[in-house]
Amino acid sequence: MRLPQQILLEVCPRCETGYPLEIVYGFASAEMFDSALAGHIALGGCTFDDDSPAYRCRRADCETEWGRWGDFPD
Ligand SMILES: [Zn+2]
Repeated sequence: MRLPQQILLEVCPRCETGYPLEIVYGFASAEMFDSALAGHIALGGCTFDDDSPAYRCRRADCETEWGRWGDFPD
């Protein structure tokens, strides 16, 4: 996962809502499911590549996804 400070700088390109959900890929642990249910992260599923989006807007009526997962070293 990335540092919270990086997420705080991200703004939705469509509705300009800040503090997006970080999309987490791979097998979801019970802890990750809890975080997703609590609205802290978004689960992106098990298949992804460098072009998969890194963030999802937290507004339920927007859900725009942006960024590139491959731009991050982790
Ligand atoms: Zn948005």
